[in-house]
Amino acid sequence: MQKTLVMKFGGTSVGSVDALKNVTQIIRDSKKDWERVVVVTSAVSGVTNLLLDSAASASQGKIDLLTQTESTLREKHFAAANMLIKEEAALEAVKAEINALIFSLIDLCKAIAVLGEASPRALDAVASLGERMSVRLLAAILSDAGMESRAIESAEFIVTNAHFQNAHPDFRITTERTRAVMNPILDKGIIPIVTGFIGATPEGIVTTLGRGGSDYSAAIIGRVLPADDVWIWTDVDGVMTTDPRIVKEAVTLPEISYGEIAELAFFGAKVLHPKTIRPVVDAGIGLRICNTFNPSHPGTRLTSNGDGRVKAHTPEKVVKAVTAIRKQRLVTIEGRGMLGIPGVAARAFGTVASTGTSVPLITQASSEQSICFAVPSEVAPTIVSALEKSFAYEIEDEDIDRVWATDDVSIVTVVGSGMRHTPGVAGRVFSQLGLNDVNVLAIAQGSSEVSISLVVDSADTENAVKALHELIVAS
Ligand code: ADP
Ligand code: ASP
Ligand code: MG
Repeated sequence: MQKTLVMKFGGTSVGSVDALKNVTQIIRDSKKDWERVVVVTSAVSGVTNLLLDSAASASQGKIDLLTQTESTLREKHFAAANMLIKEEAALEAVKAEINALIFSLIDLCKAIAVLGEASPRALDAVASLGERMSVRLLAAILSDAGMESRAIESAEFIVTNAHFQNAHPDFRITTERTRAVMNPILDKGIIPIVTGFIGATPEGIVTTLGRGGSDYSAAIIGRVLPADDVWIWTDVDGVMTTDPRIVKEAVTLPEISYGEIAELAFFGAKVLHPKTIRPVVDAGIGLRICNTFNPSHPGTRLTSNGDGRVKAHTPEKVVKAVTAIRKQRLVTIEGRGMLGIPGVAARAFGTVASTGTSVPLITQASSEQSICFAVPSEVAPTIVSALEKSFAYEIEDEDIDRVWATDDVSIVTVVGSGMRHTPGVAGRVFSQLGLNDVNVLAIAQGSSEVSISLVVDSADTENAVKALHELIVAS
């Protein structure tokens, strides 16, 4: 019997009666092999978006759709509850708890409408309601199925800074509190059903860890308990050669290295939140991605040298996966006088950092006559004006000619640790794109040489991913 397993279920995994039946069986089976099982769950699929849309409408004074939202939320949770909880009193109790959370959404949205704005703090209070509902639903379903379980709010023990919507945990306090809350429950053999996505400041104000952050919650809990393994249950058979929604021929990678998955996740593969990897690698915890809808499939195992089994020196196997991030823009600072000004890059990135934006990709021509980097489209206008302000003197003196942003572009990334040893990968990538009429606007190679990223026009995204995926399939 192994010791501690943390399993995280995503939104679709708790989003229907059939999915919840599978989840119940998966948890039951896990108890045969694992002494202590912790379950982390996301909100039911679609709920977080619905909550945040309600807050956004409320901030514009629109609350007329709230009654509709109220009934959608009831429908999403009660349909499964009615089907899967036989005991009348337990069913009524869980419905009452979920109803109370729906009422707090209404109260929050009304308050937002009165204020005419939704602060990041208010948005976190709203967004956290989804997981607070789903844990109650799942715990009640498991109890009804005869497994002793308890809904737990991670705000009790995941302590974060006050960076609302993208909060960072304080691992020291989180370790103490998580053990204090969880160990007594686990020692009794009870299965804690914990909210993903949520933390709280030391003062107890609810924060969230960023969209898709339930994976990260599982990694944090796994790290601090500590667990032996963290398994991420989702709606595909593990990490695949690319997003199967774009390329239906995508296949599952039985194993992948931490370095490779880190690049894939960072560059847009939604299957794993990029922050998930570090806490588990640091603590030597096993990570597995598997499919709630196909539980007998082994999924993907993360290994410290996932490249060990591929023929790293054969060019065909070098590219292992392809991914894309959409809705980016390239910001360029350009001017022939830039050559003489010291510290332009430092000042430029300092300015970008002061807007709270991180930059996924940088390219610089060696002439130093321009600096070019990608940022998410929605922040591009803010960044361009911040840069124009920072470089106002240089622009006036015509050392800098202009600061501008392109239309929407995508960053397409090929990943594979075999690249490090294989010459000519970039060439193959370029010619493949050329053959498929995809124009490359910029390029950057990851410092670890595990990835190459190319910037393409947003209209070319699918073509680029499909074309590059052929490099893997051809092998
Ligand atoms: P969950 O709700 O379980 O967290 P997500 O929607 O966040 O699930 O992530 C799973 C989705 O990630 C898949 O349905 C798939 O469309 C997408 N995806 C993107 N890139 C990949 C990839 N390389 N491998 C597998 N899935 C991917
Ligand atoms: N429910 C949150 C979201 O939709 C967190 C998650 O699903 O991981 O972003
Ligand atoms: Mg996810």
